[in-house]
Amino acid sequence: MDKKIIVAIDGHASCGKSTFAKMIAKELGYIYIDSGAMYRAVTLYSLRQGFTGSNGTDRESIIKELSSISIRFSYNADTGGYETYLNNENVEDEIRSIEISGYVSEVSRISEVRKRMVELQREIGVFKGIVMDGRDIGTVVFPDADIKIFLTASVEVRAMRRFLELKEKGVEANLEEIKSNIEERDRMDSSREISPLIKAEDALLLDNSNMTPERQMSWFRELLKKKGS
Ligand code: C5P
Repeated sequence: MDKKIIVAIDGHASCGKSTFAKMIAKELGYIYIDSGAMYRAVTLYSLRQGFTGSNGTDRESIIKELSSISIRFSYNADTGGYETYLNNENVEDEIRSIEISGYVSEVSRISEVRKRMVELQREIGVFKGIVMDGRDIGTVVFPDADIKIFLTASVEVRAMRRFLELKEKGVEANLEEIKSNIEERDRMDSSREISPLIKAEDALLLDNSNMTPERQMSWFRELLKKKGS
């Protein structure tokens, strides 16, 4: 495509949104932004400050400190990917822990947190040429996105993929724990009042339970062709 566009990918937890989004960004020469990483970074900050945890979430304190939280992405030429920085500290690995996954949906349902993250996401997307994945990208962040995809897969497939991914990284994981975290996040993300996880009317639904990443890319190329590039 000559004209730069915005590709929005939303969908359920752990269904391969980032793998797909990264491949699309690489193919188009675009920037890839993982909006979930931003909510994870706010959650990490809140956990460290004791604003969220097993005793619940102190919304007021999180809201009060929002202006002290800076989040940015930096390109790592060695890995070829973007890494998340929280107040100038590289937290890319830490935000992926199962502990953060356990609290992130709680923090991301705070409307002030969402408002701030959406502002940042729109700033990043102002020049287009971007692939962003998340839960509300096609519905709230970029409702005029040129391509909207809603990705899903069976919960069993998603849990197994995540389990194998963690195992490969040498992280000890429990399949049942992963599965219940995925189900709980989907439940919370879909039922929250503000910007719930929902398929945009004009988004294309793709169930990748039985698809390889390569097969998904062929599907995407066909889509681009139909869009007239
Ligand atoms: O994409 P990922 O699974 O890393 O996102 C972590 C969590 O961040 C989600 O479960 C959801 O609660 C929140 N999130 C969100 N809106 C987005 C992206 C992520 O609420 N656009």
